[in-house]
Amino acid sequence: MMWEAAKRVIEKIEQAGFEAVFVGGVVRDFIIGKPNNDVDVATSALPAEVKAIFQYTIDVGIEHGTVLVLDEGEPIEVTTYRTDGLYTDHRRPDEVTFVRTLKEDLARRDFTMNAMAMTRTGTIIDLYNGQEDIQKKVIRAVGYAEQRFQEDALRMIRAIRFSAQLGFTIEFETMSAIKTLAEQIQYVAKERVHAEFNKMWVSRFPAQGMAMLEQTTLSQYLQGSFIAEDWHNFQTTNPLVGWAYFYVLNEQEPFFSYYKCSNKEKVFAKQVAEAYSKLQEDWQVHDYFYYELDVLETAFRIAEWRRQAVAFSVHEIAARKAVLPIATIQQLAISGRDLMEWAQTKGGAWLKEALHAALLAVLTKQVENNKEQLKEWFHDIYKG
Ligand code: ATP
Ligand code: MG
Repeated sequence: MMWEAAKRVIEKIEQAGFEAVFVGGVVRDFIIGKPNNDVDVATSALPAEVKAIFQYTIDVGIEHGTVLVLDEGEPIEVTTYRTDGLYTDHRRPDEVTFVRTLKEDLARRDFTMNAMAMTRTGTIIDLYNGQEDIQKKVIRAVGYAEQRFQEDALRMIRAIRFSAQLGFTIEFETMSAIKTLAEQIQYVAKERVHAEFNKMWVSRFPAQGMAMLEQTTLSQYLQGSFIAEDWHNFQTTNPLVGWAYFYVLNEQEPFFSYYKCSNKEKVFAKQVAEAYSKLQEDWQVHDYFYYELDVLETAFRIAEWRRQAVAFSVHEIAARKAVLPIATIQQLAISGRDLMEWAQTKGGAWLKEALHAALLAVLTKQVENNKEQLKEWFHDIYKG
């Protein structure tokens, strides 16, 4: 679908007298035979020229030459051929320069396998032997590796991320350059590192990725634990789980702000860390009540990854949650108001405590979850 939409976009750009091709990751994955729905189109047309060809476009990154074309049903990213110029601040290019030839555009790309293009009719444009490197399963910098990593140090982590995804090795010169320039990674914006780690967590070989960060000494300029033993068994399809595990291995501040984690990542990781530490004793009924299933399952997996014995299986977690008398606090048959009425006093610290005690009594099936029984229970405990 995406391909078809992109083909029509390319055709229209060509009809307007410009060049347009598939480029980057989608060409790489096509050659590898791996599905990729992230289709990028590169063109000789300037952004304003692209916008003139189509009726519905969004400027998603017009300063970088990217226009999102919506005309064909699927959003297609169309980026003007460009070069990136210098990266004096180690973060992003000082300026991008639009160019008119594909050759110049391909030269700015990071690895040979990522520097290929393909025409609408399937002709591969491969100026740096990307196909040969894919066949050899190697990741090789385009041009002089040291220069390319000096331009943008993030490429060092990208090399490792691709290696973790594809199971490819990093070519010798490229690897040497990473080892030489590793310390430069400290200057790279952590949002960009975050995006690469997101892909590393869900890759096929995350442990190898983490081991390579360690071997190259990149790890020394990043926060966190990259010890091979910690990552040996780790595997997930959810990046949130990766951040939670990474946090559990460190549990030091300022982890979340350092890696520019979202609030969602932070809340999940903190809950997992808490549930994981409680698992060392074994979870109580209120833990099953309090934590979401994905939090409990992640904490359980972490214990497995760290080779800690747990006396039950991960499948039992959902079952244990399912048999709880109530699933949410709203389902408790009484409220704070009932308790105040029965006690004939105002609220205060006691109220919170009493509500919690009532919840526990219901969860542990000491009392049935109905008003009369809870009232009796309350009078027994608090003696009117
Ligand atoms: P994925 O499938 O994981 O998205 P990708 O190859 O599409 O992989 P992107 O980060 O989406 O990776 O980048 C798209 C393309 O842009 C790359 O294939 C590469 O040609 C180029 N590129 C991206 N980031 C850089 C960079 N930091 N330096 C040089 N080229 C880059
Ligand atoms: Mg991509």
